[in-house]
Amino acid sequence: MGHQVRDLARELKRFLAAQDEDEFLLTAAPSRAAAVAPAASSKTVPGSLPPMAQDSTLEVDFPRAAAVQPAATSQEDLTVKKADKTRSLDELAQVIKSCTRCPLGATRLNAVPGEGNVNADVMFVGEGPGFDEDRQGRPFVGRAGQLLDKMIAAMGLAREQVFIANIAKCHPMTDPLHPEKHGNDRAPNAEEIACCRKYIEQQIAIICPKYVIALGGVAAKALIGDAGSLGALRGKFHNLHLDSVELQKSVQIIATFHPAALLRNPNWKKDAWQDLQMVMDKLGLKGARK
Ligand code: SF4
Repeated sequence: MGHQVRDLARELKRFLAAQDEDEFLLTAAPSRAAAVAPAASSKTVPGSLPPMAQDSTLEVDFPRAAAVQPAATSQEDLTVKKADKTRSLDELAQVIKSCTRCPLGATRLNAVPGEGNVNADVMFVGEGPGFDEDRQGRPFVGRAGQLLDKMIAAMGLAREQVFIANIAKCHPMTDPLHPEKHGNDRAPNAEEIACCRKYIEQQIAIICPKYVIALGGVAAKALIGDAGSLGALRGKFHNLHLDSVELQKSVQIIATFHPAALLRNPNWKKDAWQDLQMVMDKLGLKGARK
């Protein structure tokens, strides 16, 4: 497994070389740069989340459960594998933090590469950072993040046992001239997703989780490669649709609601809970069922 991670590191280096070329094209060719629309006027991907309501409530009805410890991982080869993965993810995070491949790089306060357990069985992937995430450089730390923490706990896991990231690594804003405004969030547009998707693909390839849980329609459509609605994608496992990497093993993905959508529509929580239970059943997690 160690050599597989090293192969991924080599792939990452090749990707970084390609990124340099893209940066050059964006800088040197006005027509190419213009193809990446300014954030303020960008058309959002169908099915994206509208800005989070200011009066959203954190009242949740996900059951609570004690965290379940992951299977024992004490062998020497697993230690080596973890070190390789950590190094590869750290290198990738440094690239993301200095990335300016799309216009979001010019308006962010902090890029948000993602965080969590490099050996996670489960990865949660949202659409992009919001106000709080932009300030802290960490994924899902605002109100929606607090709800995601409760969802993870309801599955019988701790935040430290999963990996959390987004499709776009920088904050997409409806009004980039006023980044201090609340309620200034939007979904990344198609061009921004196309620019950024290699980063999440590399992260998935390095971590190689058993399951990815796509949070919301934007992440689901990007990773499943299906133009259907979130409702059509929910309720079943899909194969991941990745453009830039080949996975060492099959990784399955399910789609569920974004926590911000659950804050606006608490009635959807029972459906989201059913989605999470699909993964729990596969992993043998008991969680705390209603
Ligand atoms: S959103 Fe992604 S591609 Fe765009 S600048 Fe940020 S890291 Fe780079």
